Amino acid sequence: MTLEEAREEIEKLREFLHYHNYRYYVLDSPEISDEEYDEAMRRLMELEERFPALVSPDSPTQRIGAEPLKTFENFTHPYKMYSLANALNEGEFLAFVKRVQQAIENEAILWTAEHKFDGLAIELIYEKGSLVMGVTRGNGEVGEVVTSNVRTIRNLPLRLLGSVPERLVVYGEVVMHREDFLALNRQREEEGEPLFVSPRNAAAGSLRQLDSSVTAQRRLYFYAYGVRFPDEDMIPSHYDRMTYLYEHGFAICPYRIRSQKIEDIQSYHKHWESHREEIPYEIDGIVVKADDFRLQQRLGYDAKTPKWAIAWKFKPASAQAVLREVELGIGRQGTITPVAIFDPVFLAGARVQRATLHNFDEVRRLDLHYGDTLVVERSGEVIPKVVGVVKEKRPPGAQPVEEPTHCPVCHTPLQRQADQVDIFCPNPECPAVVKARLRHFVSRQALDIEGLGEELLERFYDEGLVRTLGDIFRLKNQRERLLSMERMGEKLVEKLLASIESRREISLDRFLYALGIDYVGQETAKILAREFGSLEALQKARYEDFVSLYGIGEVVAKSLVEFFASERGKRLIEDLKEAGIRLREFKKPQEQQGKLAGKYICITGKHETYSREKIFEIIESHGGIPQDSVTKQTSLLLVGESPGSKLAKAQKMGIPVLPIDEFLKSLE
Ligand code: AMP
Ligand code: ZN
Repeated sequence: MTLEEAREEIEKLREFLHYHNYRYYVLDSPEISDEEYDEAMRRLMELEERFPALVSPDSPTQRIGAEPLKTFENFTHPYKMYSLANALNEGEFLAFVKRVQQAIENEAILWTAEHKFDGLAIELIYEKGSLVMGVTRGNGEVGEVVTSNVRTIRNLPLRLLGSVPERLVVYGEVVMHREDFLALNRQREEEGEPLFVSPRNAAAGSLRQLDSSVTAQRRLYFYAYGVRFPDEDMIPSHYDRMTYLYEHGFAICPYRIRSQKIEDIQSYHKHWESHREEIPYEIDGIVVKADDFRLQQRLGYDAKTPKWAIAWKFKPASAQAVLREVELGIGRQGTITPVAIFDPVFLAGARVQRATLHNFDEVRRLDLHYGDTLVVERSGEVIPKVVGVVKEKRPPGAQPVEEPTHCPVCHTPLQRQADQVDIFCPNPECPAVVKARLRHFVSRQALDIEGLGEELLERFYDEGLVRTLGDIFRLKNQRERLLSMERMGEKLVEKLLASIESRREISLDRFLYALGIDYVGQETAKILAREFGSLEALQKARYEDFVSLYGIGEVVAKSLVEFFASERGKRLIEDLKEAGIRLREFKKPQEQQGKLAGKYICITGKHETYSREKIFEIIESHGGIPQDSVTKQTSLLLVGESPGSKLAKAQKMGIPVLPIDEFLKSLE
């Protein structure tokens, strides 16, 4: 057989296999027997083995077999990957409809609705019809490359059917079907492995495997719900785009609708809320989208979500369970959170056996007794909560759950701040509090130290290896002791130390978030890093410098000042510096494209139709950064009716000013 002949036959076999894979997995109507399929596959493997030069990554033989990775690479999405705004009830859904209608002056709107798949979002890039990349959402701008893992998903086309544009970006959800999830957990239970809490969780865990042969064993499915064409006008309707994807090889929501009537959407929601158990995958609501792509473009986006779509969630699922125990969780601020422990129940696709009770006011409100029958609710990925107690089912002689007086770990008397509901352990050296701080420090949003999980941290703490945040970076001097620990092989230790080293240099915003300053979340940390640029500048900043920033309120400013002035704060930073952590200067994120990219814009005075919030939103949507007060950085001051002192200040500083109306016109 010549190379040319082999090439021809291989091409034919691949086409045959891709097509029948689609018939089987997407259309669910096979035309050939399993034996015929396997026979073709066997022949293809044989030929590819004889002619290795003809192996190509989109061959059906390549679903499994990629070498395990060391880490996932990052990839900047070609288009930002958005999340969805939520409507938790009908009122919120109707408010969304009204918002959209107002924004487009009550033109008729065609709506489309489909299932909200409860899995994890994936972006697929196809070039010349072949899958070249699969990427997780990550933070929406940058995700992780998981190509060899998505290749293992059987109902996902490696090569598209028919002719397609040069480049396609397809969005969808990777899910695990309920049945496969239950089987997987049964198997794990037998093997003594920890169980997954939900199909979503299992899907995410399976996709984030460095070794794709593990992913291949988990039965994952992909459902497409979005696409970008190089020519945006190619198919200007969401519904038709989905049909297009279906025809070219993708599974999509099999029960979608399109209608101008809101009532149709309402009955669609109602129907699926009570029939969700009938489909193989978990859904936690429906997604309603404006169908017309040009309309979508006109409506635009908020920071994280499109304005033309909404996830209308189902009512949280609820179940009853008997309270066995109340565990006391201790947070990094010492706050004690009572957690109810009960016999496992199955709730909205998850196995649940603990739920938060929030605080002891809540425990008293519920008049909670041991042995009580609880009503537990959970929606989507949200932490389950106890919403009520079935008093009639209380066993006779049940003991009430009492508020503790002392910390269960360090036995310090607990305190409560005036007018606060939470009780807390005031001991800053309380092992539980220190452990919680350590956990936060290495968590995914903070330093993201791979391989340093809760259990290991706890062991390090208990062995005295890690007592301060800085100690984590001193572990490299403790190699011998690490190796002497149980279940710590040489490979594991090397891997751990390497992943710690890889975080020694860290961006300022992550660092700030990792410090665990009260009220400083990821967003606030970003603002601070962007505005101050360095830790030194932050340490020197005064209260006024903080509150003047857009997005930083009085409470946060106070907390920042207190933290940087406190003994604990100073020691913490000293310790980390001493341990050799290095801060990377904050690089501005690639500003969103837009007329106002990177410009700081401040407002004074009122506008007759637009609220200040609304104008800030407009500024942001064009890539600008809204400011609450005039500073050196300000590029423009917008002036409305009865302007305040900012106007004089801007004029004195020579900063350009512009009436709000003119500004809005200039953006059109
Ligand atoms: P959430 O993460 O709960 O805010 O929901 C937003 C996510 O829902 C999106 O990022 C998608 O991953 C997912 N999703 C599930 N089904 C759909 C759908 N039909 N259309 C768009 N997004 C969906
Ligand atoms: Zn304590």
